[in-house]
Amino acid sequence: MARRVSDGQAARGNSSAVACVLGVTTTKGENMSEALRGSRLGARSYETDDHVEFAPRQTTYYDCPNGHTIEMPFSVEAEIPPVWECRCGATAVLRDGVLPEPKPGKHVRTHWDMLLERRSLEDLEVLFEERLDLLRAHRVPEKKSA
Ligand SMILES: [Zn+2]
Repeated sequence: MARRVSDGQAARGNSSAVACVLGVTTTKGENMSEALRGSRLGARSYETDDHVEFAPRQTTYYDCPNGHTIEMPFSVEAEIPPVWECRCGATAVLRDGVLPEPKPGKHVRTHWDMLLERRSLEDLEVLFEERLDLLRAHRVPEKKSA
């Protein structure tokens, strides 16, 4: 870093000092500015490379079923989650991502499936009518009866 010249010094054109630093012997203005330009460019790239380390990043996109797009900058070393919760509350899916496949042959029981295990459709019809009556009478109890 012995040859480092700050922008401030260069801009002020302290020619003797700069010439001394750069080891330039000529006093011609044109050559001087050429030398300065080269020096300043060199000094800048030096700082970027040596003093600032940017963590390598990748931009990851998630697509929300409601049409939103989420942009997440992840470090390349980070483990990218396959899903991300959108601001609207829906589950956005990693674009081009591979979702974990549901295990083959294993049916995922829904609430509806579980309900049918406990009640026949006939029972549900009755309950449904009861609920409708309650709704019409504006007397919906807090506790769920189903
Ligand atoms: Zn959304």
